[in-house]
Amino acid sequence: MSDDTGHMDGLAVIECERCPELCESRSRIVNGTGPDDADLLFVGEAPGEHEDKGGEPFVGRSGSVLDDALGEHGLKREAVRITNCVRCRPPENRDPHKGELDNCREYLEREINGVDPELVITLGKVPTEHLLERDAAVTKEAGTIEDTRLDGTAHRVLICVHPAAATAAAVAGVAESDGSGQSRLDGF
Ligand code: SF4
Repeated sequence: MSDDTGHMDGLAVIECERCPELCESRSRIVNGTGPDDADLLFVGEAPGEHEDKGGEPFVGRSGSVLDDALGEHGLKREAVRITNCVRCRPPENRDPHKGELDNCREYLEREINGVDPELVITLGKVPTEHLLERDAAVTKEAGTIEDTRLDGTAHRVLICVHPAAATAAAVAGVAESDGSGQSRLDGF
């Protein structure tokens, strides 16, 4: 996909100038990581300082929490896909503005549709409301699954609050796999 303001190579955004303020504040575009056919795809809000420096989503303290929770269930980071609603660090780590979320949505939808995971896991209020396109009381709704369509393609979304809780809930379905050939996430 290429236009005058953005260019993708596969699931990665190579160039993009759609958000002037974020172009000023970023060091780099932070693309999603993990297999392009992962069963689980985690969606966070935006890169923070560590992600901007490292060029990878969920590194630093939040990344350690995620890695630990995955490890407790026998999974490694390399087995799941991790991405963000916007790919460039907002100044002072503020929430991304609606226009910025909208600018980056095409990339996110292409990534989710390309991976086509069994479960999309939203990590917090911003990604939950963004993907479900409604207000969400994430603390109350955490752990529930809702169907949504992204650019016409159906997906199941697990609403979560925090990386640790999200990961534990999601990987429980994988850990309970009995090798029968059925979906490893049938319990969700
Ligand atoms: S946040 Fe997304 S849309 Fe905005 S400049 Fe970065 S890559 Fe482009």
